[in-house]
Amino acid sequence: MAASLEEELSCPVCTELFTDPVLLSCGHSFCRQCINDHWTSSRSRNCPVCRQLSPQPPVSNLSLRNTCESYLRENNTRKERDREHVCQIHGEKIELFCQTDDKAICSECKDNEHEWHETQPLQQAVRQRKSQTHMTERRIRMEFEKKKEEESRISALNEEENEKEANLERRIQEGKQSLSDRVRELENLSEDNDITFLKVGSHTHTLAKYTLPDAEALIDVPKYLGNLKYQVWEKMKDVCPYCEY
Ligand SMILES: [Zn+2]
Ligand SMILES: [Zn+2]
Ligand SMILES: [Zn+2]
Ligand SMILES: [Zn+2]
Repeated sequence: MAASLEEELSCPVCTELFTDPVLLSCGHSFCRQCINDHWTSSRSRNCPVCRQLSPQPPVSNLSLRNTCESYLRENNTRKERDREHVCQIHGEKIELFCQTDDKAICSECKDNEHEWHETQPLQQAVRQRKSQTHMTERRIRMEFEKKKEEESRISALNEEENEKEANLERRIQEGKQSLSDRVRELENLSEDNDITFLKVGSHTHTLAKYTLPDAEALIDVPKYLGNLKYQVWEKMKDVCPYCEY
């Protein structure tokens, strides 16, 4: 198969792999240099294979050129691979694996410096390695998945907590706002008319006790609320110095 492919990719004139192949109108391809030389020597533009004349100038056979190039590339890597599979010392095929030295060796190596070492066929060693790698990979992947799951749970939890905190903060701000509004109302009242203020004085009880609705039910309320209550009370004292609670 490989040989026939190489034949397919060979120029009929020079029998080498095509170099810059051109296509004639008869359908045959040749190296550009080969067909030019042939035409010069035969003094007619005939095809070296079928003798048909080509009145048109030859066109580059791009697909053939690409195929030749990739064939060459593949051939080179195969040669390199083959070289890797040959013992650098003995030139023999490497087909054993020395477990003592953790090294691939040839049969000559085995008969010499690795004589008393534990060896096994290379293929077998490769299979074992592969399944070990596979298992390690699977374990790592499973642990990774577990970790990811944990992290996503934690971040979901964090999100919930952040939301709660933001909610509380908002309510506290709202509470502060409405409290200071009420206090300002009171202040205005007292400035306007002492009597009116005394009349509404009974309401100051409720005002002083004014707390943030629901906020206490949430988290660290005393930190905010305790302070707030005190501030309000201080203000109330100024507003209504003779009021006894
Ligand atoms: Zn040629
Ligand atoms: Zn031809
Ligand atoms: Zn060797
Ligand atoms: Zn060895």
